[in-house]
Amino acid sequence: MRTVIYPGSFDPITNGHLDVIERAARLFDRVIVAVANNDIKDPLFTLTERRSMVARSVTHLANVKAEYFTGLLVDYVERCQGDAIIRGLRALSDFEFEFQLALMNRKLNERVETIFMMPKESYTFLSSKIIKGVARLGGDVSPFVPPHVLVALARKYSKRKR
Ligand code: ADP
Repeated sequence: MRTVIYPGSFDPITNGHLDVIERAARLFDRVIVAVANNDIKDPLFTLTERRSMVARSVTHLANVKAEYFTGLLVDYVERCQGDAIIRGLRALSDFEFEFQLALMNRKLNERVETIFMMPKESYTFLSSKIIKGVARLGGDVSPFVPPHVLVALARKYSKRKR
């Protein structure tokens, strides 16, 4: 039984994340999407909202589940008896940070490997940050996020305006 952990802030989950999750689900027996509690300073969505948006987006994948984690990722991977960490690589700009993170995680726990996956090329420019920027200004992000995330974004930004 091979388990892989896909960590991130998922604020919110995008079709780029989902593409990586679907690829990982074909390679591993079990994929745990781990929503980080302490990753970004000022998230738009709460931890519970982010986790439940991930859970709703992966209902078609029987071997994928959504969880939270706090603290060190390598400790979480041990607790779940994970074999590896999945990270997505979009462009060269991701590389330096991801490279440092993977080597630091290896220093912290040699047993845990990091695997990088590239999304479909049409998703390589997608990030949660850019989605929030466009949605906040009323732009159409429907090609880039699951439909329920689109609704959640519209709800958040209309509340903020009031
Ligand atoms: P973001 O950078 O979108 O805020 P997260 O912190 O949630 O993303 O990212 C979790 C992981 O998913 C990271 O490894 C990140 O590089 C990857 N990722 C994010 N968006 C995409 C995408 N469009 N395609 C592939 N990987 C992605």
